[in-house]
Amino acid sequence: MITFSDVSFTYTGDTSVLSELALSIDEGQFVCVLGANGSGKSTFSKLINALLVPDTGTVTVNGMDTNNPDNTFAIRSTAGAVFQNPDDQIVASLVENDVAFGPENLGIENPELRKRVEESLAKVGLAGSGKRETTALSGGQKQRVAIAGVLAMHPSILIFDEASAMLDPRGRQDVLNIVERLHHERGMTVVMITQHMEEAARCDRIAVLDDGRLVMTGSPREVFGRVEELRAAGLDAPEAVQMRETLRQAGMPLAGDPITLEELAQAIWQSLSNN
Ligand code: ADP
Repeated sequence: MITFSDVSFTYTGDTSVLSELALSIDEGQFVCVLGANGSGKSTFSKLINALLVPDTGTVTVNGMDTNNPDNTFAIRSTAGAVFQNPDDQIVASLVENDVAFGPENLGIENPELRKRVEESLAKVGLAGSGKRETTALSGGQKQRVAIAGVLAMHPSILIFDEASAMLDPRGRQDVLNIVERLHHERGMTVVMITQHMEEAARCDRIAVLDDGRLVMTGSPREVFGRVEELRAAGLDAPEAVQMRETLRQAGMPLAGDPITLEELAQAIWQSLSNN
């Protein structure tokens, strides 16, 4: 469980980047953090794994206070983060050495280390790729190696800070599928920062930041139903929601509150079949 209790943070001492943020993320939840550029999303993610610590208030990860330096090591192995730029995260020239880097730092030795590397590569669809050169990988493959490196530390929480933002659509889809599988099949807690509303539609819960404040939280269906508030926070509702509202205004009755294109297509089909 991750808890933010009245957390405020500033980089320079004057302008507040996060203000009195209070939020709990339960074990096994898949939470998406949305917000316009500069709203504080990345700062929020760095506060989870103690890359930053709050000026006031507390952040705890599985009960460990990030303010206590004695906890930093345990927090970073509990909450693993994958960031935006694939090239910034690759540290070794061979895939297997890159994936081994994190667990080695935790003091894991062979044969356990080798087992973890192989298992982690398999989880991201790169089984048997250990001997490949990291420089020869695509951006999407590099992000998958970065995810494998985090998984090899056996974390219970995964943080994705716009991890698919620099990828092509195929790479983005691959990464998203892996994230969903880790959550659904392995019950991992996921905190995903994204600019993509369509990605956020697939999570359990959304938290919206606006200028360092938590302004909305709820299920994707609830949050995406509050189109005006989203707009005020500098965000657009997903395409399917915009289309849904346009169709309703044009007089088409649509059952439920579709938020994905698949759900919208079904609702349109149903509406046409009923008339
Ligand atoms: P987001 O991820 O939503 O784009 P960030 O958390 O990156 O937002 O940034 C929030 C605010 O903090 C922005 O105004 C940004 O310019 C500022 N900021 C981010 N990182 C730093 C830093 N290292 N030093 C000073 N200001 C920063």
